[in-house]
Amino acid sequence: MSSTIAEVKRLKLNLTESEPPSSDHTSIPSSVPDAKETKIHPSNAGDENASLFFIGTATTILEWEGIRILTDPNFLHAGDHVHLGPGVQGTRQTNPAIDLHELPRIDAILLSHYHADHFDQEVEAKLRRSLPIITTPHAHSCLTSKGDDSFTEVTALDHFESLILDFSNRITGGKKPSIKVTGMPGKHVPPGPLSIANNILGAVPPINGWMIELGYADSTNFESGYRIYISGDTLMVDELKEIPERYKDLKIDLMLIHLGGTTIPGPKMPLLMVTMDAVQGVQLMQLINPDLTIPIHYDDYDVFLSPLEDFKKKVEEAGLSDKVVYLDRKDQYKFKVKR
Ligand SMILES: [Zn+2]
Repeated sequence: MSSTIAEVKRLKLNLTESEPPSSDHTSIPSSVPDAKETKIHPSNAGDENASLFFIGTATTILEWEGIRILTDPNFLHAGDHVHLGPGVQGTRQTNPAIDLHELPRIDAILLSHYHADHFDQEVEAKLRRSLPIITTPHAHSCLTSKGDDSFTEVTALDHFESLILDFSNRITGGKKPSIKVTGMPGKHVPPGPLSIANNILGAVPPINGWMIELGYADSTNFESGYRIYISGDTLMVDELKEIPERYKDLKIDLMLIHLGGTTIPGPKMPLLMVTMDAVQGVQLMQLINPDLTIPIHYDDYDVFLSPLEDFKKKVEEAGLSDKVVYLDRKDQYKFKVKR
């Protein structure tokens, strides 16, 4: 399905860029490391031409047409701490599938929000300042107000605002591969008094989900060949209902769902849940109705109190088992972008 894009912001990216993604790099690996296991769609596999490599937490590498997008970079190790708000700390329980210096060339980063389990202190210190980052208006202001140490290529997207990434030096069959990114709504704090208190304290930052459309564009039209919805760190809130309304005649091929039932201040005092647990995860599958769901952000921190096993059980109870693929860290999912 083709749509006109006259009104949509565009960002030109050059894939021949050879600067390393971080100051930890002594050389740039030519590819994403080999996956431990490769998964495909359970019922309509064939001709896969794109992949999603799961590093851990909400960190993934999306690769298609030689383009690489990194989501929510977090490369901390088991035992490392993150600051998640006033008096709120998390301890990492797992290791990432690869280290920061093992990243191949990255063309852009999608950052769902400015929280240390999604953009950790080492990433913040070491990431190349000129790496293009697409994120929330809040994270934009944090990343660009660091004086000489500011990130220089940050683009903010509001909810339902879109940006087309043009890879100007890549042409396939006369068409340019392009990625349309649209900010999706979400809420990290439940509505009501807690939300009002949080707005004042600024403890938990505003978030974006993403709709990522992989497709082909010319100067006036964009044609999507695969649609990925990433929930971001949201709860199951009313704002999400607008997503299936806006995309009602459009197929959502894949949903990456941030689970974990993150509960703060922490496991010893579980007061406030700020990401979806198993029950809400299944509700979101029913609301969005994607062709396939892959859970991420499920066991990497001690503040994630809803284990993946709970989600598996709820998925089975809902009769949705053939709609979910499970990735372990270092696994990849391969899929086909139509053209
Ligand atoms: Zn998180």
